[in-house]
Amino acid sequence: MDSKRLYTPSRIKEILNHHGFTMTKSLGQNFLIDGNTVRAIVDGAKISEGDRILEIGPGIGTLTEELALRGKSVLAIEKDQRLKPILDETMADYDNVEILFSDVLKLDIKEEWEKRFGEDPVHIVANLPYYVTTPILGALFDLDLNLKTLTVMVQKEVAERMCANPGKKDYGALSLFIRYHSQPEIIRQVPNSVFIPRPKVDSAVVFMEVKEKDPALEKEKFFRIVKAAFSKRRKTILNALSTYGFSMDKQEIRDILNRANIDSIRRAETLSLTEFIVLSLNFPDEF
Ligand code: SAM
Repeated sequence: MDSKRLYTPSRIKEILNHHGFTMTKSLGQNFLIDGNTVRAIVDGAKISEGDRILEIGPGIGTLTEELALRGKSVLAIEKDQRLKPILDETMADYDNVEILFSDVLKLDIKEEWEKRFGEDPVHIVANLPYYVTTPILGALFDLDLNLKTLTVMVQKEVAERMCANPGKKDYGALSLFIRYHSQPEIIRQVPNSVFIPRPKVDSAVVFMEVKEKDPALEKEKFFRIVKAAFSKRRKTILNALSTYGFSMDKQEIRDILNRANIDSIRRAETLSLTEFIVLSLNFPDEF
């Protein structure tokens, strides 16, 4: 039975050769060829029968197939039109899979999702193209859909930045962005040997459980402050914020830090998500 599944290296090579398909590096095309990794991603995503899944970048459909077998339906977005004849063939037996050929950063995903599934919860699963990992994550969290979980394979270093805790060298604006929206966890380390072609870097799978939104916290304001705080990583939080170009003098920033109970000589990299939230709530509406 397994020999029919897409994730065997011989089957994938056969399909690629048959269609004369050559991978495009600039599209981040590194395809999975390992069943254990494919199954581990879907296990880690905690997909169950009733789930509707949004996949980004199905490639030739290796992960898509496993998602289709375990969930209710898969809507996948693929930028590379050349993959259409391959996906037509590999997904022919799965009537719960639909592929939209479009750039995920240009498509109105909310409209496409709601047209088909209304308010149904969204589970995102993807082996992301590494050249656009952070813009894609930004766009997905901004979707304003009923998003429940995201499970993504990314470059190992990016996974570490996404999940880093305060005080660690990897901790920064990306860690706070991810934690603002979700509870992240690295669920699997993935060696480069499970892809064709092999990327230069190793990978990791990050599972994110989406948090309820805090209505009092204004997102744009929060991230302006985070960006300013990390603009000068080596300086104190007071110096970073007061030299960033906000329309406030140093004393006003010092007062805000006092009210937020944050010592002005600390560095941004030591502040937790909760401290940044309190800081943001203490800033005026305009600054
Ligand atoms: N899911 C497949 C797998 O695991 O074998 C392929 C993963 S490959 C790392 C990334 C996929 O994303 C490729 O199929 C690539 O063509 C597609 N892709 C790249 N940029 C994209 C974009 N902006 N929008 C949608 N898909 C994109």
